[in-house]
Amino acid sequence: MMMEKDSVKARKTILISGAGIAGPVCAYWLHQYGYEVVIAERARTLRDGGQNVDIKGAGQQVIRMMGLVERIEARNTLEQGQKYVDATGKLVAVFPKGAFATLTNDFEILRGDFAQILFEATVEICDYRFGTFVTSLEEKNDSMSVTFNDGSVEDFEFVICAEGIGSATRDMILPSETSFRYLAAYMSFFKISRRPGDDGWAYTVNGVDGTFITLRPGNETETTVLVTFIRKKHDITWENQGEAKGMLHDALKGRGTVADRISAELETVRDFYFGPMSQVRVSRWSSGRFVLLGDAAYCPTAFTGEGTALALVGAYVLAGEIKRSTHYAEAFKAYECLVRPYVQSSQNRMNPLLIRLLHPRSRTAIALTHMVQKILASDCVQRRFRLGAVKRERKIGEDFIFPDYR
Ligand SMILES: Cc1cc2nc3c(=O)[nH]c(=O)nc-3n(C[C@H](O)[C@H](O)[C@H](O)COP(=O)(O)OP(=O)(O)OC[C@H]3O[C@@H](n4cnc5c(N)ncnc54)[C@H](O)[C@@H]3O)c2cc1C
Repeated sequence: MMMEKDSVKARKTILISGAGIAGPVCAYWLHQYGYEVVIAERARTLRDGGQNVDIKGAGQQVIRMMGLVERIEARNTLEQGQKYVDATGKLVAVFPKGAFATLTNDFEILRGDFAQILFEATVEICDYRFGTFVTSLEEKNDSMSVTFNDGSVEDFEFVICAEGIGSATRDMILPSETSFRYLAAYMSFFKISRRPGDDGWAYTVNGVDGTFITLRPGNETETTVLVTFIRKKHDITWENQGEAKGMLHDALKGRGTVADRISAELETVRDFYFGPMSQVRVSRWSSGRFVLLGDAAYCPTAFTGEGTALALVGAYVLAGEIKRSTHYAEAFKAYECLVRPYVQSSQNRMNPLLIRLLHPRSRTAIALTHMVQKILASDCVQRRFRLGAVKRERKIGEDFIFPDYR
């Protein structure tokens, strides 16, 4: 007993870079296993932006094991379903919650609310440092020496990089191992102010030249926005907000009333998430005392609806393997072996053809898309496909068998 206590004490602290979804979940489990954790977050405050995230399949199991289900259910957006409207706001098709092909699931939580719940579950047990990021790393024999943006230098047992798709620290350590599968579209998530007409439904509009817009219920004062649009070239990065907003204004111009409303508020939006719709593919997820987690390692893209589930599963497995292995290299290898096939099957399900179909460009293609939406929403199609959807959901729930780390 004494030896176990001493060996826990002798451990150095672990650094997690990125306080999104994957970082705090991994921190929670590492703390359960007796580790001290520092979380560095580049933003000055917790980023509470985004629309609804899907917590499905194995990801739900992680949430259950963390005892967070009730807190998540209490923040359910209670979205009633999804309506497709045309550029003037006229109704095209209605997909209530539970319908085949609707966006609305049982577990409907805003990404920001989920991030807040994870933060609350870990703030007392980890050392959160906002406005902090890594500027360089140096691997030593028994630690990783990290220099932060304020010039301070600290040694950590190892570094877990959970910085999301545009991770800068990943690009310092594994630049040639990292590639992006660009799906020829850009995406953006943010919130705008809520208007009296915003009810409990999600509204989706297909605009000309391949602009896809969805507004979804947020909170009492805000409505959440997703805008994606086709762009052949992958030419602007995650860093340049001014250029990003300019590009988004162009994608919204002349796309109808919903687009005009968004454009009018764009300059004042709070947490702007914008970038190329790309999958992240890294040929190996670790190097020495450095390991990647979540979107930084294996972003599947938002249209799969699986980025959060992969982050949850990856975080749980990485922490568990760190707990049960005698050496970090063994832990990182086991984590990658277990999680990579799960990631690959998710990434491979995303077909660029689907992106093109969701973003019709000409008025004729949009009219055809409206016809398909009406057919899909019709009673006879719904009756036929709903049963199949239930079966598929069940399969997703059985998609990853967890090792037992307890
Ligand atoms: C503001 C925001 C809104 C989002 N909205 C949606 C959405 O509506 N729908 C959806 O499907 N997905 C959304 N995502 C992505 C989604 O959260 C992820 O796909 C998924 O949950 C995996 O989470 P992650 O923790 O790996 O990455 P993320 O959730 O992207 O978190 C990464 C965190 O790392 C921080 N970070 C970045 N660089 C550094 C650095 N150098 N040093 C320290 N910290 C750094 C970021 O600020 C962020 O807090 C959003 C992400 C963000 C940040």
